[in-house]
Amino acid sequence: MSYDPANIFARILRGELPAHVVEETEDTLTFMDIMPKANGHALVIPKEGAPNIFEISDDGLHKLITQVKRVAKASQRAYPGNGVRVIQLNGSEAGQSVFHLHFHIIPSADGMNFGFHGGAAADEASLSEHAQRLKQALATID
Ligand code: 5GP
Repeated sequence: MSYDPANIFARILRGELPAHVVEETEDTLTFMDIMPKANGHALVIPKEGAPNIFEISDDGLHKLITQVKRVAKASQRAYPGNGVRVIQLNGSEAGQSVFHLHFHIIPSADGMNFGFHGGAAADEASLSEHAQRLKQALATID
């Protein structure tokens, strides 16, 4: 699959669209999902332009999954009592809607209810509050 540099996450990476950024590293960006499935729903993306898991370099994927683990640990710490879903979709057939590789990190307390898409946009204050909460937890992770 070809990579379209006009996709929404590429535009966020270039600073053309706003996002509630939780953490930026040399190779990744973590920010809040604009239509969260739960409070604290974050997305971790590589800076490398790859549409899906099949097309990122191994080195890029290694760096990305290391950051996914770090954000998942922060999520667990920021939302105690929840589990953490780490979800990643490849292809529209699998439900992927933005074709820049991303991992969803979702604090989850609703057991096996896997209903996923179709939420409403959260308000800015809520996104900002939960970005802060994750940032604080990230600051405590080595
Ligand atoms: P996918 O279905 O591709 O796995 O997930 C794409 C995610 O991107 C969805 O959960 C959706 O809410 C989120 N999303 C779509 N547009 C934007 C946007 O402009 N900003 C942010 N922060 N998230 C977005």
